[in-house]
Amino acid sequence: MYTKLKKFLTLELQHFKTSGIYKEERVLQSPQGARIIVKGKEVLNFCSNNYLGLSSHPKVIAAAHQALDKWGFGLSSVRFICGTQELHKQLEKKLAQFLRMDDAILYAACFDANGGVFEPFLSEDCGVIADALNHASLIDGIRLTKAKRYIYQHADMDDLESKLKDSQSDMFRMIVTDGVFSMDGDIAKLPEICALADKYDALLLVDDSHATGFVGSTGRGTPEYCGVEDRVDIITTTFGKALGGATGGATVGRQEMIDMLRQRSRPYLFSNTLAPVVAGATIAVLDLLSETTELRDKLERNTLYFRKGMKSLGFNIKPGTHPIVPILLYEAKPALKLATQLLNEGIYVVAFSYPVVPRGQARIRVQISAAHDRPDLDRALEAFAKIGKELGVI
Ligand SMILES: *Cc1c(COP(=O)(O)O)cnc(C)c1O
Repeated sequence: MYTKLKKFLTLELQHFKTSGIYKEERVLQSPQGARIIVKGKEVLNFCSNNYLGLSSHPKVIAAAHQALDKWGFGLSSVRFICGTQELHKQLEKKLAQFLRMDDAILYAACFDANGGVFEPFLSEDCGVIADALNHASLIDGIRLTKAKRYIYQHADMDDLESKLKDSQSDMFRMIVTDGVFSMDGDIAKLPEICALADKYDALLLVDDSHATGFVGSTGRGTPEYCGVEDRVDIITTTFGKALGGATGGATVGRQEMIDMLRQRSRPYLFSNTLAPVVAGATIAVLDLLSETTELRDKLERNTLYFRKGMKSLGFNIKPGTHPIVPILLYEAKPALKLATQLLNEGIYVVAFSYPVVPRGQARIRVQISAAHDRPDLDRALEAFAKIGKELGVI
């Protein structure tokens, strides 16, 4: 039975390899951190979402141990049967408080949060108005509704307004955007988006996966950064990036909306509860971030330092303030070459090219972390200078 499909898959995979889009996974031989071991060699890591250095933070590990001992390994149940511990309720309350929203609901991943956030609210006579560069999980979540889809050009407010005009007759409308777009590190224009949401009576959902914990002066994310904290209706976010990086996600927002998600959101109703060890450690993360802004402040200083350093070396970086620093090489080959040679220098970065980014926009995407110290950043800058000159890109 398999013969026909096997032949097809083999050819297809071969095609991926010859066209350079086959993804190889590098195997780490160490915990996640500023320094990781790859192929027996220690390298400086500049490509993880470990923005605050919490993936292997001693306080987070200790909290995980405690939760494991006290609450067990797994719950073997969905939330509404017997999968809710006090720990899960605490985490939901803490997260809602941290983001200054009414309530929160936990999911196994932000992918699931996004998969389950549209269908309960939007039927076929409603509309979703989405940024063209939204994350795959938002795109998939929107596919699961029968609502009409309106896609506006990335960050184009005129186009957003025209889509809002086109959809005037829809019953409910929801504008949907990433808070931070992961390939460019650019932040959604929330002040303008909120103004349009008000003007056209639309709801607003922001996926703040690349922001929660560190963007904004106290790490509350893009609504804080943009000064629109009380104007966003729903935030979805992940625990898999800055908040310890294990797994898990959440939808945070207005009370009735969260109440309805508990009744109707399919990835919540039909998928296992978050592991207690993740819930316990994430509570510790939120406590830590509520006590002090030290880590996000260090991340901000590191980001500024690295961006400035790269600019003065003559690299063409996308302007911005986010720790995602895209370094444009335009063509795929030099980007790949730069990344490969940097790894030889002990600097781990990744090159992205078409189809992950538009043609002619190939780049290295550096991600800065609070786990980096100044000498780490200097080492990276030196390596970029050396290899950049060798390859003639600066
Ligand atoms: C990483 C990411 C997700 C997925 O989060 P997981 O918890 O890993 O499923 C969703 N949305 C955005 C914008 C992301 O960057």
